[in-house]
Amino acid sequence: MPEKENTARKKIAKRVVLHFPRRMVDAPILYKLIKDFDLAFNILKASITLEEEGLMVVELKGQQQNYDAGVEYLLQSGVRIQSLSQDVTRNEERCTSCGACVTICPAGALYMQPATRTVDFDSAKCVACGVCIKACPPRAMELHF
Ligand code: SF4
Ligand code: SF4
Repeated sequence: MPEKENTARKKIAKRVVLHFPRRMVDAPILYKLIKDFDLAFNILKASITLEEEGLMVVELKGQQQNYDAGVEYLLQSGVRIQSLSQDVTRNEERCTSCGACVTICPAGALYMQPATRTVDFDSAKCVACGVCIKACPPRAMELHF
């Protein structure tokens, strides 16, 4: 089988963050990925941001060519797709434990410690969606590519 065809048929699994515009939060987008593009998916996290944008961390599995076609469909539907090949860290000196990031983090990586009233960051839970970057008033959360 030619190399190009091999690549197209290769089975892949990728974790991505899907950002849905408000008007699409209830649309059956993922159902179409199964039915029309033969992709399987696991929803790892789902939430609605403060701007009422839908946010979903999913693992998509299937053949490379179906994945590419599915991604194209999502983009044309208005979904923004972010790959998770990046890293998020917190600048501890800047964090004021204001709590603005706690409810918006879809992974539960930022959470209040009731005893100390400080906000902790668990980098092992972070899925690098980047939602906290803009939401943090002193810009303590940093994105690295
Ligand atoms: S929004 Fe920023 S400053 Fe506030 S608790 Fe979260 S990381 Fe710390
Ligand atoms: S990037 Fe920020 S909002 Fe996203 S999972 Fe990591 S800590 Fe939570």
